[in-house]
Amino acid sequence: MARGKSKGTIRLVHLYPKEMSIYGDLGNTRCLATRLRRHGYEAEVVEHHPGTELTPGAHLIVGGGGQDSGQARVEKDLERNGPLLKSLAEDGTPMLMICGMYQLFGNDFLTVDGQRLPGLGILDVTTRGNKERMIGPVVLDTPHGQVVGYENHSGATTLGGGQEPFGTVRHGRGNNGKDGSEGARRHHVYGTYLHGPVLPANAQFADALIKAAVDRAFSRGFEPEDLDDTLADEAQQRQITRLLTGRNKPH
Ligand code: GLN
Repeated sequence: MARGKSKGTIRLVHLYPKEMSIYGDLGNTRCLATRLRRHGYEAEVVEHHPGTELTPGAHLIVGGGGQDSGQARVEKDLERNGPLLKSLAEDGTPMLMICGMYQLFGNDFLTVDGQRLPGLGILDVTTRGNKERMIGPVVLDTPHGQVVGYENHSGATTLGGGQEPFGTVRHGRGNNGKDGSEGARRHHVYGTYLHGPVLPANAQFADALIKAAVDRAFSRGFEPEDLDDTLADEAQQRQITRLLTGRNKPH
């Protein structure tokens, strides 16, 4: 663990922690803040609530999943802060949007009840709600290695032409249960259906977001410490083996 002088402060903004943070997604914020500190940086966590201006100078932005009703409650605020979020995204600010917020970072979400929730269009994806939910554990191949998590969504998401996915499904349903894609990535903005929470379960992906934030914030770039992730890595590997080979099944 790093001691002594801080390498700098990273401002981490958590969008809508009351309305949009289910299935442990708060763990992503805690994981990023803790890993930043262990790498020798200070983490300033700012909660963003509906009806307020987005804090300036965000280095890293996270948002979680939520019920369709929670998504409807943040719509107005997303519209208000959308232009700033868009320009931060285009400027390379890393963002992680899980499930419900992933859908709202896309073009739109038509809920299973027929309500249209317009999105920010930062990711070129569209989502349609279904009666059948997609629920269960997931394993993905991604540019950050294999990633594990848990999905629970009624929305089926389609990528626009040219929109890169976050990963390829090895186990689970992913964006729509049909085309093998999961999530979406543009610039350093990641949308994914993976709860878990995803970052504590996949330390290498957490550090990729941190690196993108620090590289953008400080000219000397990310100077990581050598963190001991043995337990997290073992848990991740065990989950991958269990789901992909059927070995290590719980008794
Ligand atoms: N309400 C959305 C859906 O069911 C998102 C769910 C979630 O965030 N887990 O598709």
